[in-house]
Amino acid sequence: MAARGAQEATISRRMMRQYELVERVKRYNPAADEALLNRAYVYAMQAHGTQKRASGDPFFAHPLEVAAILTDLHLDDATIVAAVLHDTVEDTEATLEEIRRLFGPEIGALVDGLTKLKRLDLVSKQAAQGENFRKLLLAVAADVRVLLVKLADRLHNMRTLQHMREDKRQRIAKETLDIYAPLAARMGMQELREELEDLGLRNLEPDVYATISDRLARLTAKSERLVESIEQVLTDKLGARGIAATVTGRQKRPYSIWSKMERKSVAFEQLSDIFGFRVVVDSLEACYAALGVVHTSWPMVPGRYKDYISTPKQNDYRSIHTTVIGPQSQRVELQIRTTAMDEIAEYGIAAHAHYKEGAARRCADGSVHARLATESGAYQWLRRTIELLAEGDSPEEFLEHTKLELFQDQVFCFTPKGRLIALPRGATPIDFAYAVHTDVGNTAVGAKINGRIAPLLHELANGDEVEISRSDGAAPPAAWESLVVTGKARAAIRRATRAAVRRQYAGLGRQILDRAFERAAKAFTEDKLRGALPRLARATTEDVFAAVGRGEMFSGDVVRAVYPDHRDERRPSAPQAPGNGAGRLVRSPDQTMRLTFPGGEGGDAKSGAIPIRGLDGDLPVTFAPNGGAVPGDRIVGILTPGVGVTVYPIQSAALAAFDNEPERWLDVRWDTEASGSERYPARLALKSINEPGVFAQIAQVIADHDGNIDNISMKRRTQDFTDITIDLSVWDLQHLNAIIAELRGKRPVNSVERVNG
Ligand code: MN
Repeated sequence: MAARGAQEATISRRMMRQYELVERVKRYNPAADEALLNRAYVYAMQAHGTQKRASGDPFFAHPLEVAAILTDLHLDDATIVAAVLHDTVEDTEATLEEIRRLFGPEIGALVDGLTKLKRLDLVSKQAAQGENFRKLLLAVAADVRVLLVKLADRLHNMRTLQHMREDKRQRIAKETLDIYAPLAARMGMQELREELEDLGLRNLEPDVYATISDRLARLTAKSERLVESIEQVLTDKLGARGIAATVTGRQKRPYSIWSKMERKSVAFEQLSDIFGFRVVVDSLEACYAALGVVHTSWPMVPGRYKDYISTPKQNDYRSIHTTVIGPQSQRVELQIRTTAMDEIAEYGIAAHAHYKEGAARRCADGSVHARLATESGAYQWLRRTIELLAEGDSPEEFLEHTKLELFQDQVFCFTPKGRLIALPRGATPIDFAYAVHTDVGNTAVGAKINGRIAPLLHELANGDEVEISRSDGAAPPAAWESLVVTGKARAAIRRATRAAVRRQYAGLGRQILDRAFERAAKAFTEDKLRGALPRLARATTEDVFAAVGRGEMFSGDVVRAVYPDHRDERRPSAPQAPGNGAGRLVRSPDQTMRLTFPGGEGGDAKSGAIPIRGLDGDLPVTFAPNGGAVPGDRIVGILTPGVGVTVYPIQSAALAAFDNEPERWLDVRWDTEASGSERYPARLALKSINEPGVFAQIAQVIADHDGNIDNISMKRRTQDFTDITIDLSVWDLQHLNAIIAELRGKRPVNSVERVNG
């Protein structure tokens, strides 16, 4: 009994009573048609009957809540009634004819528009969103109040989205962020937009939303007194100059903080403008007077001053924006405006649709449009867009031709199947690919824009149809991370790059271990290695491979961990290394090299050496820091922790430093197939006599031979002679030798030697 009573109490609290609806409207519109509102209430309640929402609430609670949202916007009777009736035709036995008969043609037309929109929602799973958007605008063309009801409908659905299935929730939340929130913004309805955005983020990125909300809450608790004291200081300062102002501080919303973090790639802590203050005064003159007081009291932050009073935004928004280093050295963001401007800022187009006492009752003959069109820039924009819409017949064309002023900082592109992908302005096909799916981004290798091959870094435009070509083995280059504009792409690239580097090290480690076990004449399987994992203090075999590849763990230790009885013969003879172990093979030219370049020495393809492909290959490779290595050189690899393999020509003096660390020596060779498109570093030391133009002659020789000079340094040794060191990149040893020979032929050049530091 008690439980039932509680349940009823819950429902009655949720469901607005008939008299409450009337009271809400009468509060701002004393002349409201009470009988009309009552008729609509009863009609919709009976029509929806016992229908339930996904939450288990009576369905009728939904149209009532939608109507309540619109009473907050102070809308006229017809709009409120249309909201109460908006789902009846589609979801109940009610017909449009009946509604026209009972409520008149004006409300009939509104309900008709809303019914059409409702049908649109039902097909939106299959239909392209671009087409949906076009139809949405066409449906509201008849009367902008349809759009207001639709936005309120969406807001209530978003407020109750938690009762929906996960996939449906994602789709609706995304559509809200892609279409409805920007539309609300374009209509100047800030409050509504902000709530739609926050609810969208909460459903799409619950973790992000929770983290940001949590931090905001903690910040509020900490700075409550700060906000109050800034409000007080501002009010006092203005009051002292005879300006009556209402100053309110408020925290930014989670979505706006999130999008700023995304846009600027900054952490929460780096955001300086978490609080904004609004100064509302009673006249236009007072706005500028207040601005003068603010700017003479505190230093302004350059680049943040904007006067939307003298140049209003397209959606009629008017306000002065500025940021100062205010009381207590806090950055204070200020919006200064009049009460009337404040109303437009809050309600946007809805402010123009307010019922005004004494205004003629709206008729279905367009008189409402006429009034709105003269007053509201946002509405004019809407009309213009809709006219353009009537001319194009495909949604793509529409999006392209109108340039979608609506979404000034967004571009809308399409997949070949017509799926709409909304991206921030400046986005590239890489962003597009990641927006479609992380896998698509990770394997993207090329793009076609509107059927033509385009660079992956091309900036996308509205209406572009983008087709991404993929290659299965592809991994995103790390450099993409700084070239994309969406946070999703950036995070995915970072993850993929990290994974790729790890795979490289693991691949190298595997090869090193294969050879180490081979030398020890022991069988090597991953199963055996798995058994030794505890001894190696690693969780997976992959971890062991990566550790060996990175040089953090030596192959000999792994062999001993798998075969504890194994006696390592190398240890006693250490000083003699690198004649042992991995280094041994290096000493034998036919085993260490397989040369692939014209003029190079032939190699043994059956060699067990690890093939080196240069910097583009699958292994983490660098070349000797002082002198490099080029194909044709006999080479050896030195395992360097944190770097991978450093390749040295065997004549390098630097190798002596590794004589006592045989474990670090790796048997490497140049790879036959993969080379050829890459240059390799080498260093030359020249001695030349001092005379004008020597440098130019040297540079000319290298350029004539298609060599790249990476660095050049000169040091005058005596009055007559200069030492020149050149770092250059060449294709191979033959190429390098040709350059050396030509340089030696130049008269001012005394000597040319290759440097192998
Ligand atoms: Mn609805």
